[in-house]
Amino acid sequence: MSPDPKLQLDLNGFKKNPSPYIIAGPCSAESEDQLRKTVGQILDGSNTITAIRAGIWKPRTRPGHFEGIGSPALKWMQAIQEDFNIPIITEVGTTRHVEEALKHGFKHLWIGARTTVNPFYVQELSEAFRGADVTVMVKNPIHPDLGLWVGAMERINAAGVNSLAAIHRGFYSSDTETYRNDPKWELALELKHRVPDLPIICDPSHISGRKKYILETCQTAYDLDMDGLMIETHYHPTKALSDAEQQITPEELHDLLDKLILRQSKLQDPKKNQSLDSMRVEIDGEDERLLNVLIERMKTVDKIGGFKKENNLTIFQIDRWYEIISSRKLQSEELGLDPKMADEIFRILHKYSIQRQTRILHDKSDQQD
Ligand code: PEP
Ligand code: MN
Repeated sequence: MSPDPKLQLDLNGFKKNPSPYIIAGPCSAESEDQLRKTVGQILDGSNTITAIRAGIWKPRTRPGHFEGIGSPALKWMQAIQEDFNIPIITEVGTTRHVEEALKHGFKHLWIGARTTVNPFYVQELSEAFRGADVTVMVKNPIHPDLGLWVGAMERINAAGVNSLAAIHRGFYSSDTETYRNDPKWELALELKHRVPDLPIICDPSHISGRKKYILETCQTAYDLDMDGLMIETHYHPTKALSDAEQQITPEELHDLLDKLILRQSKLQDPKKNQSLDSMRVEIDGEDERLLNVLIERMKTVDKIGGFKKENNLTIFQIDRWYEIISSRKLQSEELGLDPKMADEIFRILHKYSIQRQTRILHDKSDQQD
């Protein structure tokens, strides 16, 4: 991917300034009554909600589930937007969806994770947005490919849409024990680094998949200085026709928003700045020591590589590898470090050790012709 995607952005007050952009609403608009009740309760008792979400074209992974009300909902959704004087955001996946939503006065639309993956769909949608006064929010693709996420925004931007935001909803993972989708925060941070002006809204509902993790996911998003949240909220979650397990009630939403701690991205007090700077100097020193240890480790790896070559031994020795991983995890646990972190670090070290030893084994410079 080109290192600096150049997006022409006109953010319409999107970027966190000073408070984050809060979008709440049901996964799906199920009926006029359900949406009115939910919107009424969300707005009652909170003045921090900037927009309502509600899907009417639902991209279900497998058929046979509620697929949304579709176009007939547009008329009453438009009435609800006007009655409550708040924008409603909905998902579009085809050019027909875009045309119909725009015709009914929708000014905010999102593209779902299952659409962002396909440049053909995104290109067609981009043509349908051309010339419209619309803000488009682009969810990350299902798999962790930053190029596709940025590429989708570049296509939409090239069609003249300057009001854009990214929605971080996590990535497919086979391990759903805790989160439904792996947040891979590092990818959202990489996006922030590459396109600093682009607002990023976190969708804790699709990341968590369960109510109990929503608060901590929102707090992490705030701690990482994300620009807003999109939280699935339903007046009666257990009756919801889609994503019942992850929707919270408007009351729970208000409670959650009250609990969240908003941190500042820069310190105002110069004295405090100095103490932060000196702690950072400590970290710099520790990292330097870490790098020196790595150099020593790699020298030993080379020595072993040379020995394996001399003795015609394979580089990969499975028993030794299992022994390294399990003993390092155990040691980390005993030392009070996260064994998962040790597992990841040693897998990376092993990958680069194997690369170095492969080079040594293939090096013909010390062989006679
Ligand atoms: C949704 O927001 O309800 C939805 C279907 O999201 P995603 O595209 O993130 O799965
Ligand atoms: Mn949903």
